[in-house]
Amino acid sequence: MKADVRPDSEDVRRVIELAESYPEVSTQLHQIQGTTRSLTEIYLLGSTGVIPTEPFEEFEAVERVVRITEKFRAIGRHEASLEAMGFEYNGVHLGQDTLDVFPGLCAVDTRENVEAMFRCLQSHGIRTTRAGAYKPRTSPYDFQGHGAKCLPFLFELAGKYDMRIIAMEVTHESHLEEIQQALADSGNATGVMLQVGTRNAQNFELLKAIGQQTELPVLFKRGMGITLSESLNACEYVASGGNRRIVFCLRGMKSNLGDPHRNFVDFGHVSVVKRLTRLPVCIDPSHSVGSRSMAPDGLLDIFHLTAQGVIAGANAVLVDFHPNPKEALCDGPQALLLEELPTFLEDVKIARDAYEQRLQRVATPQ
Ligand code: PEP
Ligand code: MN
Repeated sequence: MKADVRPDSEDVRRVIELAESYPEVSTQLHQIQGTTRSLTEIYLLGSTGVIPTEPFEEFEAVERVVRITEKFRAIGRHEASLEAMGFEYNGVHLGQDTLDVFPGLCAVDTRENVEAMFRCLQSHGIRTTRAGAYKPRTSPYDFQGHGAKCLPFLFELAGKYDMRIIAMEVTHESHLEEIQQALADSGNATGVMLQVGTRNAQNFELLKAIGQQTELPVLFKRGMGITLSESLNACEYVASGGNRRIVFCLRGMKSNLGDPHRNFVDFGHVSVVKRLTRLPVCIDPSHSVGSRSMAPDGLLDIFHLTAQGVIAGANAVLVDFHPNPKEALCDGPQALLLEELPTFLEDVKIARDAYEQRLQRVATPQ
């Protein structure tokens, strides 16, 4: 629908009425935040192949009729006919043209470490972070995360240091309620973006539960051992449930061929996911690289890979830090040190500036 056509308007009602007058056709109404405006979209579901587009194009309030031919109905670009689907959450805008860095703890351990982390982020003007309370571990004997019991102090400290969004993995649908309750108890001191981990990328029941709530946005990590198309279809479960506030995260692919990194880095897919979908794209250099290996030039592989993703237009960077990685209960070996944050952020800025220069060059060809 055209800009400013409200979902509850007479115009929308008339389009829905016409659509549902065709046999075997039902409709779904969606309101999404586009890059520059709020959009109302009406989806026609069912036997739509024989429906002509012209009667809909005749409505004054209809901006465009798009025949969806590809698989990714809700998140797909559909041959570039649909614009990117960014969103605003707790004062932060995430979209295909912005960049936010989410440095933080892989897992919440002590109150002191959380406070040291947040204090450091605030001193560098960062309001987006990561913190795991529920950890999906390869071995049942490994630390599983402090769960709901760490949420009160985590959210309290997030409020104290003005953290606006915490990316936090959930591994079971009961965690949604625990998080929502703890957020409410904290007086909504911060915001949470629900993270779907790579191991749960095809946990369809979890995806449905996450998609059916629209209060909290979602960071969906690609499956490490499935195709990109399978991951995008899985992500579509979240969107089809009604939650369109999704960031798609690349985090490397499983490979056991003695590769130098924990996962085979897939940041070459940043532009691919931006082309196939309307979603902002995140990169996770920590879980891709998995170590603090350094190149002979003096830059850590994590810095190099981050730069590769950012120079290709990534919209978010999820990266592990820890005040004392030796103490970390999860993924210490890949954590950056707090004193490395300023150089990391400078490096990200260099890569982002280069990306923006590259964009200018294509926008104004000589
Ligand atoms: C994480 O981000 O802490 C995590 C477990 O990531 P992944 O699901 O990508 O392994
Ligand atoms: Mn981790």
